[in-house]
Amino acid sequence: MATTTLPDSASEAVPFGGVEPDEAWAEEVRALAQRTDAVILAHNYQVPAIQDIADHTGDSLALSRIAAASDASTIVFCGVHFMAETAKILAPDKTVLIPDARAGCSLADSIDGAQLRAWKAEHPGAVVVSYVNTTAEVKAETDICCTSSNAVDVVASIPADQEVLFCPDQFLGAHVKRETGRENLHVWAGECHVHAGINGAELTARAAANPDADLFIHPECGCATSALYLAGEGMVPREKVRILSTGDMVREARATRAKSVLVATEVGMLHQLRKAAPGIDFRAVNDRASCRFMKMITPAALLRSLREGADEVHVDPEIAARARASVRRMIEIGKPGGGE
Ligand code: SF4
Repeated sequence: MATTTLPDSASEAVPFGGVEPDEAWAEEVRALAQRTDAVILAHNYQVPAIQDIADHTGDSLALSRIAAASDASTIVFCGVHFMAETAKILAPDKTVLIPDARAGCSLADSIDGAQLRAWKAEHPGAVVVSYVNTTAEVKAETDICCTSSNAVDVVASIPADQEVLFCPDQFLGAHVKRETGRENLHVWAGECHVHAGINGAELTARAAANPDADLFIHPECGCATSALYLAGEGMVPREKVRILSTGDMVREARATRAKSVLVATEVGMLHQLRKAAPGIDFRAVNDRASCRFMKMITPAALLRSLREGADEVHVDPEIAARARASVRRMIEIGKPGGGE
């Protein structure tokens, strides 16, 4: 069993507050980080003030790799709990802090180790492929982890006659099943409440109202299937639809010639995209797609984390070793990109 204590649902938790992200705050954060030999990492879905104060901003896997390669002895991971756990798995000798351990993830919480063991028992011999949005305990029960960028390559690397269990995201699973045409792929019915709330009807309406816009779509979105359907029907040119991880969205923003882009993922992503390509008009497909777990990491929470060395993330070494093996297999296959 993992020794990490998973946070309670953040749905009723009150975030740490009362601190304005002004220049005095920024100075204190920088001074504390220097004094404690800490590097601050922020996920693309964090509030703009946290993204701007961080030493590095990016997607979950890229940040975990930066954590492992960093000279700093302490990692302050501004993201959700499973992401900080992944950093600890890849950097076991460093102190990993998350500014508020109650920042969970509805997708990662949709399957636990016991549920995965029971599912495996129903399909002996099946290969388990898990998206990186999972707890350390689930990663330890997994054969190969994957990101949204390499999920298709990971599944395609498994012999065609072997059953595959894919978890936890049903939308990413449906995308992989469609791309590989594989009938022996079983998909866990988990979902992210934020991405599931971005639906096909909204996307269709926004695409019709903005016919010249590119569509950047995260494959966890409920609308990923709709986007491909619209393209197949000729309602949206196929080349305008891009299914991308958050890290790939930033790269694509720098490369596209489009003047406007509709973005189907958590709204925090818009901040990085606008910084990467200020001349492009980026708009959310759904303005209400905001992750309350990500927004638990407030300016007050970051200050508390640096002042008090809280909340420290621990992963049982035996669980971490098994989880590390499934993460390393992911990195060996295809281009892992960055996950969420
Ligand atoms: S946006 Fe969804 S998948 Fe991402 S951290 Fe929030 S709940 Fe989890």
